[in-house]
Amino acid sequence: MPRPIVTHRDAISYTIGRMALAGGLTAIVTLTFIFSDLGTDASALVPVGTVAHSSLLIAVGVSTLLSGALSYRSAILMRQLTLTRAELLRISCTDPLTGLLNRRGFDDAAAPLLARAATAGQRVVALMCDIDRFKAINDRYGHDAGDRVLARIGAILRDFAEANGAVIARHGGEEFAGLLVGVSDEEATRYALALCKLCSTDVAGNDVEVPVTMSFGLAAHLPGGDLAALMRRADQALYRAKDLGRNCVVQIDRMEAVAAC
Ligand code: GH3
Ligand code: MG
Ligand code: MG
Repeated sequence: MPRPIVTHRDAISYTIGRMALAGGLTAIVTLTFIFSDLGTDASALVPVGTVAHSSLLIAVGVSTLLSGALSYRSAILMRQLTLTRAELLRISCTDPLTGLLNRRGFDDAAAPLLARAATAGQRVVALMCDIDRFKAINDRYGHDAGDRVLARIGAILRDFAEANGAVIARHGGEEFAGLLVGVSDEEATRYALALCKLCSTDVAGNDVEVPVTMSFGLAAHLPGGDLAALMRRADQALYRAKDLGRNCVVQIDRMEAVAAC
């Protein structure tokens, strides 16, 4: 295992080591070529053509070998760097508990999605949903049971997103956000009602069954509006769903529960 390069001093000593290695190898290869081509008699007379031919051969051989080895090593390091960057980006955009996008991943995905939808003339409907009385679940069944609920709800939302081409993220705590593309308000409401039913479930684990419900708010993206305004309106609809008794879907323009799930 090579010593990791952490400080600038490490980089300098690594470079000096490599230069010494390259110089040593060059000397060995050059002397080997000279002795095999021109002999070992230091005072022998040798034709200029033979010297020129040997020198050229040695220079091209040594520089090709060294630059090949160095380039291969840098290419391997660059590949590792690219893969590490991609993995770091993935981790920084993913919620570890549910495997869904986190808030940052959602914002990163939403901007190009809204732009593409605007170009294609497609409607976008935002969805905000929140587990009902989650604090009471933690208090009654424990934090681990709460985490199991989050993971289960995350899996339901992920399956839905994959099946319907939606973007869904854990927006924070027990709140999730989504964007549905190319849907009418009626279709979005149908989707949300289906999700509301799926999320109205008992989550089993460690000999307990935790009853869960979710509330949903929906708002359509308005021309000229931005993501923050869209999510704020979906959040207002979600608040209304909470006020109306939870476990239901509210569309921002109607502000009444479409149906209790
Ligand atoms: P409401 O129906 O109005 O949404 O009520 P609520 O109890 O769900 O909402 P509240 O905001 O009062 O409580 C949310 C709780 O979620 C508080 C917080 O401790 C818990 N929580 C946030 N993140 C996590 C997590 O990652 N794991 C667990 N187990 N609990 C979490
Ligand atoms: Mg809640
Ligand atoms: Mg909440």
